[in-house]
This record gives sequence, C-alpha cells and structure tokens, in this order.
Amino acid sequence: MTTLRHAAVTDTGNVRPHNEDSYYCSGTVFAVADGMGGHSAGEVASAIAVKCIEEADTAPLAGAEAVAELVRTINAEIHDEANRDSAKRGMGTTLALAAVVAGDVPAFVVANVGDSRTYLLRDGSLRQISTDHSYVQELVDEGALTLGEARHHPLRNIVTRALGIDAAVEVDTWTIPAVQGDRLMLCSDGLVDEVHDDDILDILSTASAPDDAAGRLVAAAKFAGGKDNITVVVIDVGEPSTPTEAPPDGATRRRGLTLFSVFIGLAIVAASAWVLNGMRGYYVTFDGTDSGAPLVVRTGQPGGWLWMQPRTVTVSDFHRGDALPAIQRQVDREPRFDTLDEAMDFVVVVSGDDDVQG
Ligand code: MN
Repeated sequence: MTTLRHAAVTDTGNVRPHNEDSYYCSGTVFAVADGMGGHSAGEVASAIAVKCIEEADTAPLAGAEAVAELVRTINAEIHDEANRDSAKRGMGTTLALAAVVAGDVPAFVVANVGDSRTYLLRDGSLRQISTDHSYVQELVDEGALTLGEARHHPLRNIVTRALGIDAAVEVDTWTIPAVQGDRLMLCSDGLVDEVHDDDILDILSTASAPDDAAGRLVAAAKFAGGKDNITVVVIDVGEPSTPTEAPPDGATRRRGLTLFSVFIGLAIVAASAWVLNGMRGYYVTFDGTDSGAPLVVRTGQPGGWLWMQPRTVTVSDFHRGDALPAIQRQVDREPRFDTLDEAMDFVVVVSGDDDVQG
C-alpha cells in the first residue's frame, strides 16, 4: 500500500467577508470546493459537496466511473436543495477531487467541474492535470486568448460548469498512477489568481512537507492580495524524505534570530498592505437583489472598512434583470479592481454597452 501524507489550509483571504471554500481530506480522498451564490449560499453548496464525499468515503472507489458517479450525486443534492429553498436558488460549487482508487497499481482518479484545479509535481516539473471549465479557458482553446492574457482577463472568474446549477452535469476525469515522490496539489482559484505557476512550482518543489507547502502557498496568495478565499490541499506519495543532519546549536540560534527579524518585517509590510487595501480600489456590484437593481461601481470595501463606508462612483443603466445568470453570479462576487478604468472596463464587458452614465 502506498503511503500518503497530506495537509490542507484554507483562508478567507484579505477582502471577502466569508470563506465559501470547503475541503475534504480522509487519507485516500481529497477535494476542494469553491462555492458561489448570494447570501452565503455558496458556503452551503460547497459544504454539501464535502458532506456527500464524506458519506461515500467508506470503501475505496472502484475507478473513474465511480468517481464521476459520486460527483453527479453531489450535483443532484445541491440542485435539489437550491430548488427547495428560494434563498439558495442558483447556488453552486466547483469541485476538484482526487481519490485513490481500488486496483493492482496504485492510482489516483482526478475529477473536475469548474475552475478549481489539480496539479502534479513529478520529477521537478509541474503539470496542471485538470482543465478549467471557464469562459477564458474556452477562449484559450479557441486560440482567441493566450494563457498569459487569460490570467488577467476581467472575466477570468466566470465558470461555465458548476455543481448544482443544472439537473445534470458533465464530469471530466483523469486517471494517473501514484508514483513514489509525486506531490499532488488541489486548490481554489484564489491561489492561482494571485500566484504565478512559476512561484507555485518553486514553493511545491522546495517545501519539505505537505503542511509547509500548503501554508506557504496560502501565505503567498495573501501576500499578493488575497482578493478571494484560498484553499490548498497537498498530498505526498511515498515515504517521508529523511531529515537532513541538524546544524550546530549556535547556527540554529543565529538563523532563528535572522528569520525572526525577517518575519517581523514581513508582518509589518503585510499589515500595512492590508490596511491600505481596505481604503483604496474599486468594486463592481448590483445595487440590490431585485431585477431592477442597477450595476454600480463603488470605491472602498464592501460592507465598510474601519470607519469608512464604500462610496458609489458610477451607476450604469444595466440592471440585474438584464444579466445572464452566470454574469449575475460573477457580479455578486463583487470583483475588485485597482483602478477605476479597470472597473469601468469590466462594467462595459458585462453590460455589453459603453453607454454608461458617469
Ligand atoms: Mn474562488
């Protein structure tokens, strides 16, 4: 039996009021779910996904079809719950799942719906196993956008497939052998939106243990802005690496002191960035939950920040009722922008109209 070691870290990030991500780790089944929907329904959707996985995780899953069937069951559960309760209507969640399946050769089945991802670090190179179900991924597939452009596209967080939205869902799966030394990483988009693949590779290939890797990845995403919830699960295949010989005591103390100073420095920088972040920037939202609510641009922090309330700077003549459900969900995430220009670009793309009142 292959031995696996794992760790998971989730964080609300620096901006969002709630953490709508959920994760599951049992030792053989691992998942990250990124919920979406207004009034905290996203938290409910991702929690239902984790509950269903937990209930099914009593014996090894037989293979890719069994994993896909589990994901379809989760879809039905969330869809039913959304239809039972009008406050949860339209809720959904992404799901990145990796499960060790029964068989002669140790193997993972990786399943994906939405834009949470599964990566594999093997022999020093990082490979994205899953393919996003997102608007920008479709543009990349069509050759209309490069991967670099996709990273910064204003609509990069629009998912084209999620669990709970429709009565049926298509599930993509990949089967990969579990090779000693492999490191798998599952994450929500809050990581990859903030941290470049090169830096993810650097952290994954230098961190000694899964908890170190997961902690450093989440810290990097928060340091880069932390505009979304961040969840990371790291799984190592094989025996733990042998610890290197301990340095002499004096050396440990000196390094401890230096690390402590660096830590304090970083903490001050992070705290200043956090305070400043709350005062500046723009976000786009609908001014209410009814279909007549206009699309608006505000400056400041949703819900206020310390003593400062957000201020509306632009009201468009595009209304909630004019928007497709996918666009409504995107706007309800209250996307943030550094400059008014970027926020206005987003408004123009969403409303498909540049006739916006200033
Ligand atoms: Mn997210």
